[in-house]
Amino acid sequence: MTVNAYVDGIRQGDRVLLSRAITLIESARSEHQQIAREILEKCLPYTGNSLRIGITGSPGVGKSSFIETFGSWLTNEQDRKLAVLAIDPTSQVSRGSILGDKTRMEKLSSDPNAFIRPSPAGDSLGGVAARTREAMLLCEAAGFDTLFIETVGVGQSEVAVHGMVDFFLLLLLPGAGDELQGIKRGIVEMADLIAINKADGDNIEPAKTARQEYARALHLFPPKNSGWSPKAVTCSALSSDGMAAIWDLLIDFQKITKETGWFLQNRKEQSKRWLHEQLEHELKRLFFSNENVRQNIKSIEQAVVAGKMPAVNGVGELLALFTQSSLPVVKENQKD
Ligand code: GDP
Repeated sequence: MTVNAYVDGIRQGDRVLLSRAITLIESARSEHQQIAREILEKCLPYTGNSLRIGITGSPGVGKSSFIETFGSWLTNEQDRKLAVLAIDPTSQVSRGSILGDKTRMEKLSSDPNAFIRPSPAGDSLGGVAARTREAMLLCEAAGFDTLFIETVGVGQSEVAVHGMVDFFLLLLLPGAGDELQGIKRGIVEMADLIAINKADGDNIEPAKTARQEYARALHLFPPKNSGWSPKAVTCSALSSDGMAAIWDLLIDFQKITKETGWFLQNRKEQSKRWLHEQLEHELKRLFFSNENVRQNIKSIEQAVVAGKMPAVNGVGELLALFTQSSLPVVKENQKD
């Protein structure tokens, strides 16, 4: 398969080729990565035309159910084309623990206007996030105009998702405070919208109370650069209540932030940050996979532990070993 064949296929919305290109992105083999980079570069002019929405919340809050209900509502009622991706750093061993079990999203899995891809596996959050971001760009080139990036609400992965989306949605349960739901304060502060899910049956009243409390709490945070004031709503993935209201808010958000210029500015800043993060990630990878470093790091470590070498000197020696062994490569590149 040539790079052009992949790009043409993706541009025509061929989901099989889109899937295969994402597999190339996720592959550890350098020849695959090379093709993936070329595909990505050729697809780049066709990216950016979607609304990128991050969705988080603790396990059990109803993320899969919400994505299934809201996603189906968007494809059926709003004619949107939806791609659902995920970042789950906990699935490094058991590949794709979130979104992995597609039976949890039965309707969306068979929806011709939806595309679901589980979290890539990887040995670091940085690597996993990189693969998801690249997959996101390919989905846009394939014509998906709405992207959901799902993650679990327990740690650093929220920050990674927040750094690649336009809008950040936090799902919470009625009744318990956010600490009890395992949500850190910083995550509540990142949210553009808090949706109290499971607002059905006996939970309707507690959900309304929770909504009021969160609406008050959101007011206490400093105003966002986007010019958008975060909101709190109730919804039910079970009954579909609240889906239309959430969509209206998303549309408002897009309108307001495009008017203020923040929408595009934020994407530019995300790209810049992304370049630097990837660079750091790649430098770290190169450093620790360097043969010279690998051969000497243990003995330097032992010398530091034994109190025979100050840590700062150990760092100096390792960096010298790294730069010495990478010098010829640098020279060769410079000649080009
Ligand atoms: P996730 O772990 O966050 O993806 O949560 P799931 O979508 O798997 O949902 C966890 C449980 O909550 C399942 O048993 C769902 O049926 C249930 N659930 C999800 N959304 C709702 C809702 O809106 N109302 C009610 N009553 N139950 C829900």
